[in-house]
Amino acid sequence: MNPTQVLIPTLVRIKPGALKRMGTYARRMALRRVVVLQSEGLPERFFQQIEQSLKEQGVQVALRLTAHDASFEASTDIFTQMPRHIDGVLGLGGGKALDVAKYVAFLAHLPYIAAPTSLSNDGFCSPQSSLTLDNKRRSIHAALPAAVIVDTQVCLDAPSALWCSGVGDLASKVTAVNDWKRAFHAVGTPVNDFAALLSDATVFQFIARPVRDLEGVRLLATALMLNGVAMEICGSSRPASGSEHLISHALDGISARPRLHGLQVGVATYLMSHLQQQGTERLGALFRNTGFWDEVARDPFDRDEWEAALRLAPSIKPNFHTVLSEGDHMSECLRLIREDPELVRCFNR
Ligand SMILES: [Zn+2]
Repeated sequence: MNPTQVLIPTLVRIKPGALKRMGTYARRMALRRVVVLQSEGLPERFFQQIEQSLKEQGVQVALRLTAHDASFEASTDIFTQMPRHIDGVLGLGGGKALDVAKYVAFLAHLPYIAAPTSLSNDGFCSPQSSLTLDNKRRSIHAALPAAVIVDTQVCLDAPSALWCSGVGDLASKVTAVNDWKRAFHAVGTPVNDFAALLSDATVFQFIARPVRDLEGVRLLATALMLNGVAMEICGSSRPASGSEHLISHALDGISARPRLHGLQVGVATYLMSHLQQQGTERLGALFRNTGFWDEVARDPFDRDEWEAALRLAPSIKPNFHTVLSEGDHMSECLRLIREDPELVRCFNR
């Protein structure tokens, strides 16, 4: 991708009550007829709020669909069923629906409005869609949303596990950026300094005030969104994803019960920070202050699955240098899982 062709969201609202103003935002984008894709099991009041607001501004919901299945096949199916004369796609709810909506909008060359009702990962504003293709999870190239509408009150009311998952996914930028710089020194992977800086800055802004309240949700949403922008700027997932994400991807493949993306990633981030010898104390404190450790300890991970995932992780992405490429860290990781006072609570034996 040509990194000079950067398309970033031009309309961003991150505040309480934003869903009830959806009509105003849609009008500002000159939208008249939209398709709404929403999550399964989403409380009906969220759709009613946006529908009412859209109606008041003369914007029609031409089609409303529930995303049952975040697959490439289902997304292309929806694309072929799109009514005529649509000028926008709105994704409402959690991860899956937003991944499908983002991809459908990308296929249809239509502006995409992301309206997440929780902040469990950075996918609501990233340039890829996480979809299955032939039942295998893939990151498929898409475009950033044209608008990001985050109702901070709605996200604050979402379950605490989702907040913790968002914190874990954000924290991973600390190890991802370090892995990126290692890759530059070891194998010459080009680093985009601005994207790395943006990625770093977003985490530290949140770490300075890691509180689960309206302001904390605003900071988390902003940070996750800017991370998506950092990926778009450099045309790679490097600013948001390093060795910690390799471990989480490996777990998704072998775990009997994969957990929330950000919970897996957050624990892996802390573990990788030990290997990288940077950020560990700060990450430990962040996870204490946000309730992340307690959330993971409520339903600990399986130690054997993690051991298998750690063995698999370095070979998940070819030509992707991380700290895991720099020697055999297996015994060190296993020791940390058993002995580190924070990590020991995260595993079941
Ligand atoms: Zn992630």
